[in-house]
Amino acid sequence: MSAVPEPAAETVVMKFGGSSVADPEKIRHVARRLVQARERGVRVVSTVSAMGKTTDSLLELASQVSPHPHPRELDMLLSTGERVACALVAMAVHDLGQEAVSFTGSQAGILTDSVHTRAKIRQITPVRVLQALDDGRIVLVAGFQGFSRDTMDVTTLGRGAGDLTAVALAATLGAACEIYSDVPGVFTADPRLVPDARKLETVSYEEMLEMAASGARVLALRAVELARGHDVPIHARSTFSEEPGTWVQDVAGMEEPIISAVTHSEDEVLFTLRGVPDRPGVAAAIFEAVAGEHVSVDTILQNAVHGSAELSFSVPREDVVATRKALDTAQESIGAIEIEEVGDLGKVSLIGAGMRSHPGVAAQMFRTLADEGINLRLISTSPIKITCLVGSDEVEGAVVALHRRFLSGDAASGRSE
Ligand code: ASP
Ligand code: MG
Repeated sequence: MSAVPEPAAETVVMKFGGSSVADPEKIRHVARRLVQARERGVRVVSTVSAMGKTTDSLLELASQVSPHPHPRELDMLLSTGERVACALVAMAVHDLGQEAVSFTGSQAGILTDSVHTRAKIRQITPVRVLQALDDGRIVLVAGFQGFSRDTMDVTTLGRGAGDLTAVALAATLGAACEIYSDVPGVFTADPRLVPDARKLETVSYEEMLEMAASGARVLALRAVELARGHDVPIHARSTFSEEPGTWVQDVAGMEEPIISAVTHSEDEVLFTLRGVPDRPGVAAAIFEAVAGEHVSVDTILQNAVHGSAELSFSVPREDVVATRKALDTAQESIGAIEIEEVGDLGKVSLIGAGMRSHPGVAAQMFRTLADEGINLRLISTSPIKITCLVGSDEVEGAVVALHRRFLSGDAASGRSE
């Protein structure tokens, strides 16, 4: 992202998700928030997602017209959702007496590669954004989209990438980054499962990355990665309240909590491959094929038994078809293997940067789950995360028990032990 000279006044990028602009009243509410910020004297750039479930509806519409929509045309179609929302917010800002202007991703100078439906941002040249800010306007930028100079076509950045647009703009403009949604921040667990889950004041980038990768839906994974890379603190907060939310930022040097959160996801499918030839290059061939289908795999486990290897990995249910296709491709080069698929699984993860320096967390986690009678299908760890694959009907009980053990009032008071 190209550096821009520091402006005299502070700039803020305010991102609103689809549920925050779902109807005309909400759009006017967002406009009021933008105007309030402008009246405090800051330069306001806002990126807004498509209204409500618009992107889903457009995808559905495309699939009714064509079984395999042409990717370029899909991007032409999907990019309209954000444009609609931005233009409407700009109108509502005008009615409140402030100047506003909306831009498409391309007008805002968001340049991407030319991979349709999952383009990567290469660079932002925000000439028109800066000009409009200098003119005192509130600037609306359509999220989730850009423009490829190679093909001169509109691209989209992948589902949920409105957050990515916001972080990329903040990094380029040297701006603060506020991501507004219908939840008040990042919680110690999903409050729908755990009513006494607490909102976290701060979370480190690396914890947030693990949380986003293991089921927390507050922020998109790619956006957190970009924020970490460019050191852009993110303030994740509610559209509908003034209350501070959660800061996702670099907390190095601060004393880190042992456990910050329990996350979960349902609908995992476990693939187990048996009779896999035990020689160099086989795992590479399998996972190259899987990556070729754009499936991101989690929790890979391999062990060798009697001269051949057994390999297990989990994927989200929506990636099962692509995974099967990849395994067909892989078998062309490595030969036939036995493939077993187990559905009806879910993942529960404990996340905390302080885990690194506190042995024994895994044992405590397994004991807590054992006491609930929960059987663990697969375990995987990173230095700051422990994940267990369990039956999907056991996910809720596991989350509740782990939160009680590690994060509820009593457990939390012993956190710095
Ligand atoms: N509208 C896009 C989607 O739903 C991008 C976003 O909301 O972040 O995937
Ligand atoms: Mg959306």
